[in-house]
Amino acid sequence: MSTPTLPEKQSNPPGDPNPQVRNVNWQDFREHLATADKEGNRTWIYAKQPSGAWYRRRTVFAWLLIATMFSGPFIKIGGNPLLMINILERKFSILGQIFWPEDTIIFAVAMLTFFGGIMIFTTAFGRLWCGWACPQTVMMEMVFRKLDYLIEGDAQAQRALDAAPWSAGKVARKLFKHGILFGLSFVVGNTLLSYIIGLDQLLRIITDNPANHLVGLGFMIAFTLLFYGIFARFREQACTFICPYGRFQSALLDENTMIVAYDHKRGEKRGSWKRDQVIELRREQGQGDCVNCRQCVAVCPTGIDIRNGLQMECVNCTACMDACDNVMDKIGRPKGLIRYASLNGIEKGEPLRYTARMKLYTGMLTGLITLFLILVFTRAEVETLFLRAPGALFQAAPDGRISNLYTAKVVNKTNRDLPLQFRLLNSGGKVTVLGAANFAAPKEKVTQTSVLIELGPEDRKGPTTKLEIGVYSGDKLIETVNTAFIGPR
Ligand code: SF4
Ligand code: SF4
Repeated sequence: MSTPTLPEKQSNPPGDPNPQVRNVNWQDFREHLATADKEGNRTWIYAKQPSGAWYRRRTVFAWLLIATMFSGPFIKIGGNPLLMINILERKFSILGQIFWPEDTIIFAVAMLTFFGGIMIFTTAFGRLWCGWACPQTVMMEMVFRKLDYLIEGDAQAQRALDAAPWSAGKVARKLFKHGILFGLSFVVGNTLLSYIIGLDQLLRIITDNPANHLVGLGFMIAFTLLFYGIFARFREQACTFICPYGRFQSALLDENTMIVAYDHKRGEKRGSWKRDQVIELRREQGQGDCVNCRQCVAVCPTGIDIRNGLQMECVNCTACMDACDNVMDKIGRPKGLIRYASLNGIEKGEPLRYTARMKLYTGMLTGLITLFLILVFTRAEVETLFLRAPGALFQAAPDGRISNLYTAKVVNKTNRDLPLQFRLLNSGGKVTVLGAANFAAPKEKVTQTSVLIELGPEDRKGPTTKLEIGVYSGDKLIETVNTAFIGPR
């Protein structure tokens, strides 16, 4: 989506609908990234610590998320992890329900919900996820950057420390800070690892002989280094360069999407505010509410100036909203010069509304999530497939009984071994599991066994008989499977 308030060139064409923004040095921001100088070298962002209502709300919400994230691996439902995405063993646990690659419909709906949800949510609510719930933003802004403030001071002190020559004090402070960042990265990396391989496996790697878990230890070190690299050095670049979600933005957002927006109609023409200036007279003097204090830029963790319009780097963190609200408070103007708004809302001066489109998208997303949850909680604990044994059609006994040999493939999705019996539901006849007097499907595993089904002449309905086989555990019917029985004409 383009920013309709900004021209392509700094010239001020006649009849331009929005001449007040011409003072913006926007060409500069278009020509290079906020985090790189004109030669392409990294410009380190020293973001000033935000303060204000939005920052407080975000802090509370972030701590809820952080508590959930770190306690997640310890929470088990029915003996299974709350969330585990074990790609290596192709085993997944969501809300305590174990999933297998065989759960194709659930996976399809989960993928549809995930990607559809992203599109629907982003189109209506912009990058609300990035600012409030993305683990990268939450950990970076609410944990790692707060440690910067705690150990090195606010932005100005950090800048001064970095510019100062190396001394024993500077070395000690940097070592102390990076030691803590590294330790935290170890915790974050291992938490992520426990979501992949499960907490039990992670604890085994930690407590067992290291020689038995070289691959697991390798992953632990790699994850720690990865997160240390991201949170200590790479920082906002992860959002700007790596995250694909930010790239989708231009395709998903439109003029009605809720974004963090600068109200240029109210703010321009910007100009510094003199202490004795009567703020109400600014408009008469051709000036808007923006006093060009650049506090919104100083707090921005991606180093951009929101007054240049919607930019890909903006993660909707609300820091600039707080900064500007504080300034508006001081000069006696209403808050919200930078606020949650749509571009249409800014152009037409309307407050943000929960529009019919947002309601529709919310309904669609709720429907998809509901469908997913229904599928998750109503799916069968056991999935059985009866396949005819290759190369064997049927066998005829002298008494007229016909037998078919099958291979039964059983997926036990529960966390307990299940003794199973197969019974014919729609026909007389006999079912025998070969080679096992008491067949049991081991927990969380796929197993297969040979099964012989015998039907008498009175049970067969011609050359092909459709059979319904009940899969029982004790007296409980847990699944019904259909298969075909072949006999002579
Ligand atoms: S904080 Fe507000 S007043 Fe200050 S420069 Fe930014 S938009 Fe203008
Ligand atoms: S422009 Fe504002 S909302 Fe966007 S990243 Fe910067 S501070 Fe956060």
